[in-house]
Amino acid sequence: MKIISKIEAGTILAGLRLLQASGYPKEFESSGQLSKEDIDNLCEAINGKDFASVPVFEEKIKVWKLVSDTNEGTTSALYIDELEAEQAYIGMVCTYEAVREELGENTTPTFSDANEAWEEAVYSGTSGIIDTIDLDYEELTFIKKAPVNNDPVEYRNFYRCDCGQEWEDTWGCMCNDRCPECNKEIEPYASDEISIIGSASCK
Ligand SMILES: [Zn+2]
Repeated sequence: MKIISKIEAGTILAGLRLLQASGYPKEFESSGQLSKEDIDNLCEAINGKDFASVPVFEEKIKVWKLVSDTNEGTTSALYIDELEAEQAYIGMVCTYEAVREELGENTTPTFSDANEAWEEAVYSGTSGIIDTIDLDYEELTFIKKAPVNNDPVEYRNFYRCDCGQEWEDTWGCMCNDRCPECNKEIEPYASDEISIIGSASCK
């Protein structure tokens, strides 16, 4: 999950303004350059609501792929549920008599039972199976916008105590905190508003 905070959005803008003022560093020249006007437009877009205030997060999803190559042709099925994919695999390999023989009394094989029996049957060479049945997965990453409307806002507060201690903490408000060194109550000298997923409470 990546949340773009105000400070981070500000940093991106500052970087773009520097780029606009002093040109591209050598090592970035090769990937093409935006004109000063393009950078203006980009800064404007980043300043706009769509970019700066919307938390973005990544969601990883495993997609299971069951591929079979038999004399009936090649089939490929996708599953997002691991158990369902495994059940499909088990059902498929159990259509072979040699696999059922390997499993013997085991009529409710787990995926690894079925997989083992399948490999035994295929590699023993006596079953004559030339088909292939494979279950594999791929991990896909989705970039999503988090729902923002009702999300609470958190503040990353920065504190500095007279004793020299400096720290930051995240709270549901710009509230005071106690110095971890000397226990003095300190007001934040700066706060960074961050949109969050989940909830925060003020102590
Ligand atoms: Zn202190």
